[in-house]
Amino acid sequence: MLIDTQLVANAPVQFLVAGIGDALATWIEARASAKAAATTMAGGLATQAGTALAELSWRIIHENALSALDAVRDGIVTPALESLVEANTLLSGLGFESGGLAAAHAIHNGLTAAPQTHGLTHGQKVNIGSLTQLVLEGAPRAEIEDFVEFTTRVGLPNTLTEIGLSPDDTRALEAVAAAATVESETIHSMPFPVTADDVVAALTSIERLSRSIRAEKGLPEPVEYEAAH
Ligand SMILES: [Zn+2]
Repeated sequence: MLIDTQLVANAPVQFLVAGIGDALATWIEARASAKAAATTMAGGLATQAGTALAELSWRIIHENALSALDAVRDGIVTPALESLVEANTLLSGLGFESGGLAAAHAIHNGLTAAPQTHGLTHGQKVNIGSLTQLVLEGAPRAEIEDFVEFTTRVGLPNTLTEIGLSPDDTRALEAVAAAATVESETIHSMPFPVTADDVVAALTSIERLSRSIRAEKGLPEPVEYEAAH
């Protein structure tokens, strides 16, 4: 793998934000997939190495993302940016290939059934999938709070409002959930069965959940996303 980090530093910051959203899902999905002993993207069982690299990418992203984003805003390469790029590409790439995908990417794929979200990047939609997966897992409150706080600071969406949807869009959310749970989807690599109804409930819940965490932590309210036509 060869990446010119000056090119990354010169690119619009939103591209790096999106890459962070995609890479953050790696550990969330790899650990679920390992728990389920599901088949990985590389076609076998998860290796300890793949799962460990996925976790390492999560840690490096948490330590470096905010500094790396500031470096890109200034168009400069710093050690934080170098570390983040390694985590976002090499570690996350190996982690998902040899660790496995689960609900987050399946929900991303499901979101393609909602035309409202079409203008968003892959990483933005994956981030909605990651938070929804944490809800499906019944993840500890502290973990969900950290995820919402961190991704809000990074500039990733964690509410339906920010992807052009609302909890009242029942039909759209049902279409998303149906697409996310088709037989071939990686949501079935979760360590427990997940139905379309579970996904509708989890997706609906993230609006109030994220808004209340953001309010508690003094973070900005979500800004409505409007698809360009
Ligand atoms: Zn992805």
